[in-house]
Order: sequence, then C-alpha cells, then structure tokens
Amino acid sequence: MFNNNTDPFRVKILMIYEEVPGNTAVARAIKALRSDLEADDVKVIVSESFADGEAVIKSDPAIQCVLLKVEEKDNQCCNKALKVLDVIRSRNHNLPVFLMAGRRDASEVPVDILDKVNDFIWILEDTTDFISGRIMAAVEHYREFVLPPMFKALAAFAKVHEYSWHTPGHTGGTAFLKSTAGRAFFNFFNEEVFRSDLSISVGELGSLLDHSGPIGESEKYIAGVFGADRSYTVTNGSSTSNRVILMASVTRNQIALCDRNCHKSVEHAITMSGAVPVYLVPSRNQYGIIGPILPDKLTAEAVKKSVADNRLAADHSDGKPVHAIITNSTYDGLCYNVKRVKELLGQSVDRLHFDEAWYGYARFNPLYRDRYAMSGNPADYDRNDPTIFATQSTHKLLAAFSQASMIHIREGRNPIDHKRFNEAFMMHASTSPFYPIIASNDISAAMMEGEGGKALTDDAIDEAVSFRKTVARINAEYRSKGDWFFNVWQPDYIYDDESGKKIPFADASEQQLTTDPGCWLLRPGDKWHGFGDIEDGYCMLDPIKVSVTTPGVADNGDLEEWGIPAAVLTSYLDGKGIVVEKTTDFTILFLFSIGVTKGKWGTLLNALFEFKNDYDNNTPLSRIMPALVKEHEDRYRKMGLKDLSDEMYKTMKELGTTKALSAGFSVLPQPDLTPVEAYEQLVKNNIESLKLDEMPGRTVATGVVPYPPGIPLLMPGENAGPADGPLLGYLKALEAFDRKFPGFTHDTHGVEVDNEQNYTIMCIKK
Ligand SMILES: *Cc1c(COP(=O)(O)O)cnc(C)c1O
Repeated sequence: MFNNNTDPFRVKILMIYEEVPGNTAVARAIKALRSDLEADDVKVIVSESFADGEAVIKSDPAIQCVLLKVEEKDNQCCNKALKVLDVIRSRNHNLPVFLMAGRRDASEVPVDILDKVNDFIWILEDTTDFISGRIMAAVEHYREFVLPPMFKALAAFAKVHEYSWHTPGHTGGTAFLKSTAGRAFFNFFNEEVFRSDLSISVGELGSLLDHSGPIGESEKYIAGVFGADRSYTVTNGSSTSNRVILMASVTRNQIALCDRNCHKSVEHAITMSGAVPVYLVPSRNQYGIIGPILPDKLTAEAVKKSVADNRLAADHSDGKPVHAIITNSTYDGLCYNVKRVKELLGQSVDRLHFDEAWYGYARFNPLYRDRYAMSGNPADYDRNDPTIFATQSTHKLLAAFSQASMIHIREGRNPIDHKRFNEAFMMHASTSPFYPIIASNDISAAMMEGEGGKALTDDAIDEAVSFRKTVARINAEYRSKGDWFFNVWQPDYIYDDESGKKIPFADASEQQLTTDPGCWLLRPGDKWHGFGDIEDGYCMLDPIKVSVTTPGVADNGDLEEWGIPAAVLTSYLDGKGIVVEKTTDFTILFLFSIGVTKGKWGTLLNALFEFKNDYDNNTPLSRIMPALVKEHEDRYRKMGLKDLSDEMYKTMKELGTTKALSAGFSVLPQPDLTPVEAYEQLVKNNIESLKLDEMPGRTVATGVVPYPPGIPLLMPGENAGPADGPLLGYLKALEAFDRKFPGFTHDTHGVEVDNEQNYTIMCIKK
C-alpha cells in the first residue's frame, strides 16, 4: 500500500515449525517457499518452536498469514500446535492459517486442529509457485476484509496523486513546502496526513453531512460493531455529540432531566435549546467521589416531585420531561445497571441518553454486560421501550484521533427519524471535517470488532487488576507493621467463586477478579464504597479506572489526626514525569486504557515507594520539587515534603474543604432564570463581576464548575444562596486554600482570580 520499510501494511507472514532437519525434502521445500515469498517483498518471520511462534503472534498484530507445520503422528507436537492455534483464534478469527503437511498424512491430523485452520499446503507435492500464489491470494483476501470502509477508501484515494483544484488549499501538503516553517510542519507530520486531508468535493469518499459513500458505509459498519440501529461519526468531540442529541430531542420550554454530574457540553446544549433542566442529583461518598444517582431519585414519583419543586419548570413547561441524560460510567468508573435505569426512568420519559464519553469499550468485554447503553442487540430490542442514545468519545478510551466521537441510537418509543435528526447533526457539523478523524472512528471499530475488542480490553483489565492487588497487598503489609502506605478505592473483600467465602482483595484470584462482575459490585452496606445501602447490583466499579487513595479520611468522612493530601502526591509524580488523570482531596485517578503496556504500572508503584521514602525522611522540596520551589521561592524554600503535606492537611482540616465539597454539591441551588435566559443577559452585557462577599442572593451568569469533580456547583441562572450557605461556603474554602498554597490552586471554570487573589464570578446585574 505505501512503499517504505516501516510500512505497517507490508505483507508479513509467520512460519512455525519444529525439528525439521536441514537436508530433508521438507526443509528444502520450506526454504524455497520462503525465498519465493521474499522475492515478492514479503517479510517472512520464522519461528523454530511453537512457544516462539506464540510469542510472535501475541506481540505482532501485523502478521497477515501463519504457516504451521505439524507432525501428524506426534501427539505432543499436535498439542503444542493446538495451543498456538488457540492463541491465534482468541485474538483473530479471520487471520489465514495454513497447515503445511504431506498429502498422505493429512487424514491423521486431529479434528481440533483442522477446525482452526483454513486450509492445507501440500509442501512436497505442489510447486513453490503455486503455493505462494495461494498464500498471497489468502493474504489479499484478508487485507481486503480487515480494513474498514472509510479508511480503506481514504488510503486508496491518498495513493492516487491527483491534481486538486479544491480546498484544502495546501493541496496535499505542497503549499507548506514553499516556506521554512511550513516545510518543518510538513516534515514533522509526513506526507500521508496531508494527502488524506481532503475536502468534501472529493466525491469518492462520500459526505459526512449526508452520510453517503464510504463515510456512510463506515457509519453503518460502526453501528453493527457497537450494537446500534444507527450510528453517527462526529468530528468535534462528544461535546458536540451531546449538543446534537439534545438539540434534536428537546426544545424551548420543554423539560430535560439532567444528571447533575453532567459534562459542560450538556449545559451548553440546554442553553442553546432553551430547554428547562430538572436535575437528578447523584450520591457522593466520604472521599468526595460522585456516585450514581440512586434508584429512589429515578422513580416516577421522585421525578414528579423534582419537577414540581423546580420553579422554572412550573413557570415555563407542561411539566412533562421529554429527555433524560445520565453520565455512564461516571468519571471515577461507576457504571449503572442500564436495564434498571431504563425500567425506572422509562416511567417518566421516552428518550434516554447515556453520556458514555469514557466508556466506549464496554460492549467488548463480558465484565460490563448489561451496564452500557447499547446492551444486547437491535434485533431483540423491545420497541416499546425508551429510545436510547449513547455518546462515546472514541478518542478517550478507544484508539482514535482527538475529537473523534460517536453517537449511537437504538430506536424505541418516540424515536427521532434520521431526516429530522440530521438537521441537528448538520447544525453542529463543519462543512470541512478532518477526514483522518472520520477514518479513525472506523479503524477504532475495526480494532474492537470480533475477538480484537475482548483481547484489548482483557489486557487493560488484567493490568489494572494486577496493580490493584499489588497495592492492596503492600498496604496490608505496611499497616500490619503500624506503618502507612497508599491504598486503592475498591472492595476490601470479595466472595470466592467456589467456596462463597469472604477473601481479602489482595488474596483473590486474578481469574475471578478479571471475569466476575460480582467482584466489583457496590453491595449494600459495604463500608469501602461509602454509598450506604445502595440497591444490590445497581452499580459496579469499573476495574480499569483506578482511584489511588492517600491516608487521612475516616469511613464516616471525618478527617483523621494525620493524613496526606493527594495534591502533594500529584505534584510529586508530575516532577517524575507521571501525569495523572484527576486529583481530588484524597484520591488520584489513573486510567488503564487499551493502550496500556505490560508492567507499565511498575514505574508508578516505584514512584509511590519513593514518595513514601521522601515523605518519611522529610526530604527538602528544593530537591524533589525544584520547579515548585523556583516558582514560589519564599513560600516553599525551607520546607521538606512532610512539612508541606502536614501543613496542607492541617489547613484542609481547618477549612473543612472535603466536607464543604459534600455540602456544596448535595443541595440544588434555586434556579432564578433558565440557562438561556441567563445567557441572554450575558450577551447583552447586563452582568458584573462580583467577589464572593458580594454574591449572596445573586444570580450567576455562567456555570461555576470546580475541577475536580468537574460537575457544576452552579449552573447559569442559579442563585448563589446565602453568605453562610453551602455554595458560597465551598467557594470560600477553595479561595482561602488557594491563597495559602500557591502552585496548588484549584481550577474552577467560571471563576476569575483577580490581582488580590480574590475569586470573582460573573453575575447578572440587579
Ligand atoms: C469528555 C467528556 C465529554 C466531551 O467529550 P469530548 O470528546 O472531549 O468533546 C462529554 N461528556 C463527558 C462525561 C466527558 O467526560
């Protein structure tokens, strides 16, 4: 396809045989075959043992054909060959595998083996030419099959060196070559990126806006892989996918039930559509981790009450919600039983929308069964059930370019047909989408299809489980000596598959932890999760989202005598080039994505040990966090790691930040205006920036979203409440903390910090 040596698509063939003595007819035939293939520019890899062959298959997904020689009459050899075949077939159902055999003995090959190979090669009887011809035909067929529609068309088109008279104006990159900076850019990204950056005028590839040609085929293919009736490729992230769905489903003065734990894009969509949001408030635990919305908030009566309690809903709407959006899984990896949510919320709405931005892999591993929007198959879907939407950021936890996102739809009650839905789609799409992003969605689907998705997700789950077990074990060892170590937020015990006995997490079998969803359920009354008497089976922790906990929080949420703020650890890790996903007061989130490499967590674990050492020895900050000390010389120059951590912990205790966070997020503010009304005031500049002291009773013009947890404390149009209320209380605690610890300040969207370190927020003028 592309003609250089690093071409990932150069034909690569693996030959596996054991004990073929050098000067036999078989050896000569194999050698001749190899030369013949190599003359065709095929790369031939030879494994002279089955174990080596197995290792090659596991480590090199670019192998496009396997030639396997077995001694038909040798039981041991057949067993080893069978093992290799099992490895191949557990990863790839379509890879062509030929058995090299003599025609005479073929009848003696065990059925188990025959079942897993495609065909025979009569290595002694047929001519080399004929054999290599058959191999190449199988490879061609496989390659044809293995590439998804859009990428295949794009790669083929980029190869045709046409003269383009259309946009993009860089015309295959040539414009960049006319300047030094441009040339540097061109060289950095390589020609193929520019050749595949095409405009909608290239008819051969179809169009994203009318879903035609290879792009349309690719969306159909994606729908098949992800279990949707229809799927849409979106090139501006799930931010846009959420907006498309909400704009298509709910309009001015209609009610949308919104998870209060929603992404900012939901706020934007509600603002644009003029809908009235009625919030579903999630639970939260002692660490400030946001849990699921509990079932008692989703019943018909509870929804009715939430609507009745919302002044704006009463003023503006007919009181009937038309759409509900839920974040699944949550950022911290809590996944709903989707069936149960459907059963509950289905009593109140016809359309259910799951924001699965971080959860695109769920369909591909049985560990997540029944816990994602597109569970089951379209053919079995009861069309009297709600219509289901899912948004997934392909780029987040699958493999795709940034901004690649997908919308999946399963039609049930009150569906939105394609014609109407596409109006909303086009309203948010660019007329010049970046084709490599589109192709990356299609490739992502191809990677997850069939055995691939299971193998990739298994790898991530296996690694996460090993890390979790290791930390649990080390924690137990240190604690038994009266010492401290980090821990992981996870069950303390699991129930053994066979005996039903309670086993400490660190001693549980990896086999069970990686395959039994029961290990990860939030069971009613279990202390570790902190969500109390939650309904059994309702919510599961996703093992690949690992929250490491630092010491300091008691089970009841009180801060203990002593502890270590997670922010100190995050900053320390950052200095070692380890960048974490998210930090709360006492937890740090690490993602084990499908890109994880074996043992990558060893480095992280080492760094945790080093922190412990440096903490216990109070190592000077100037040595371990030089960047921080350089930036804030006066503040930190004389401190050690323990000094900093202790002082920060004490401050958090005094300010009560963790409790204040819980309090701030457990009330729903009074909505004075709908989001669109508040936004209109912003556009008309009828706003002023106020300090926290000036804000009691005022209506905010923009959302106020502290990160973490990244959920809105205040939505546009909501009232900040009294001076001593939980909302301003929390913001004041954050402000006081930020003043005291430069370099560790919080990031709160909607808050500007003025020159005197005051928080200011845009409010609507009285
Ligand atoms: C990241 C995220 C989005 C937006 O996705 P992008 O692809 O970054 O636009 C939407 N919802 C949730 C829950 C997210 O975390």
